Amino acid sequence: MPGNVVRARVPITFSYKNRVGHALEQYINGLKEKKILGVKCPACKKVYVPPRTVCGKCHKPIDQMVEIGQEGILKNFTTAHVTIANGEITDVQQPYIIGMIKLPGASSLISGIIKTSSVPEVKTGMKVKAVWKETTQGDYNDLAYFEPA
Ligand SMILES: [Zn+2]
Repeated sequence: MPGNVVRARVPITFSYKNRVGHALEQYINGLKEKKILGVKCPACKKVYVPPRTVCGKCHKPIDQMVEIGQEGILKNFTTAHVTIANGEITDVQQPYIIGMIKLPGASSLISGIIKTSSVPEVKTGMKVKAVWKETTQGDYNDLAYFEPA
């Protein structure tokens, strides 16, 4: 419940630009084309989404991009009652769901907002699919949210 949330003022903002690196640059360019991209480790075949440059399992460099499916399984979720923007924690009018989703072809989970007609409808194991912004611009927010499939 919002009244039980411990609040702390965060004395920093996150309004800076940085080079995301080759792998994330390709990932973000994929989002602009409404594609979800990952990288596949040449040694152990593990597929990471979002991409990373070194395999966390076998420590081999990874650069083989693969396209991932957009309809997956909700593996876990939590209900959020606040947002954090520019260092401020702010109550939201409507609680929202943040989920961890296993997409087909990926070995890792991707996080995303889950939108349903009602919060109790959300269940671990349910099928969800990616919903894109109508106009994408090469941004993490191009993948707007996931909804029941
Ligand atoms: Zn590997």
